[in-house]
Amino acid sequence: MTVSSRSYELAGKRVWVAGHRGMVGSALVRRLEREGCEILTVTRTEVDLRRQAEVEDWVNAARPHAVFLAAATVGGILANDTRPAEFIYDNLVIETNIVHAAWTARVEKLLFLGSSCIYPKLAPQPMREDALLTGPLEPTNQWYAVAKIAGIKLAEAYRRQYGADFISAMPTNLYGPGDNFELKGSHVVPALIAKTHAAKESGAKEVEVWGTGKPRREFLYVDDLADALVFLMRQYSGAEHVNVGTGSDVTIRELAELVRKVVGFEGGFRFDSSKPDGTPRKLLDVSKLAQLGWAARTPLEEGLRLSYRWFLDHQAEARGWGAR
Ligand code: GDP
Repeated sequence: MTVSSRSYELAGKRVWVAGHRGMVGSALVRRLEREGCEILTVTRTEVDLRRQAEVEDWVNAARPHAVFLAAATVGGILANDTRPAEFIYDNLVIETNIVHAAWTARVEKLLFLGSSCIYPKLAPQPMREDALLTGPLEPTNQWYAVAKIAGIKLAEAYRRQYGADFISAMPTNLYGPGDNFELKGSHVVPALIAKTHAAKESGAKEVEVWGTGKPRREFLYVDDLADALVFLMRQYSGAEHVNVGTGSDVTIRELAELVRKVVGFEGGFRFDSSKPDGTPRKLLDVSKLAQLGWAARTPLEEGLRLSYRWFLDHQAEARGWGAR
């Protein structure tokens, strides 16, 4: 592993946030506003990131110095399981197009964003970076995981063959402002916020929680992730990806209890074990990032309060949140 101590400064640079409309991309834009850089963004109607020629033309014209590759087709356990072709195709082609265009346009630094689901289903916990490709993946999200593993390898290959300063970060499960609260595609945190809020409003006695409630998950507030990504962009230059998480996890049942407290719901939960649990535990080993000098700041309960506040403020924008 080569880690340079030289810091890559973003001030005065043109920085492209690919995927700026997403939860991670919009948190990155908020965070980068403090860096004194010029933030470049492009909408889906201007450039379809799945089209190589469109991506290359745009990158060649915009000439970013640095790229955060946060564009992806994402979703929770059910979306992954039912839309495998979209998850594998979109993600493979988006990352291939952007990484290659960045290299041909001589981008100085690129950060590729993966996900903790790249690790084997039964990887020893907490999962270290070197657990990658040591065992079979969790079947429900293998499509997405395979695409993200390819993304890490792409960045690594361009570093190895061309000396490009391309790095990768692997965030754990994320939540926060800008999350997807549509139940068909959402992850567990926004799903539970939306369902619990809907139950509180309608006076329902119970909220349905998928699975047994026993799986353990780690949750990182998305503004903490954005801060870590800017930190890595500035401080890290190595071939191996870096885990980004909090270092601690909760059961889905414990999460549901916290959401109940934050939302102020007085009813109970019903666990539907006909729905998939997914991988039993997903906790990242964050010692590499800690050694580099970064730690998460937002406690889960506080992050849930901020997310619930965002949900209440934006509820009108999407009808049907929380509805089954
Ligand atoms: P995962 O981390 O890739 O498994 O993604 P999710 O965030 O979708 O699911 C995490 C865990 O929460 C799984 O065990 C789900 O079964 C459980 N879960 C409980 N209720 C829900 C729900 O309403 N929506 C989602 N997406 N997951 C839920």
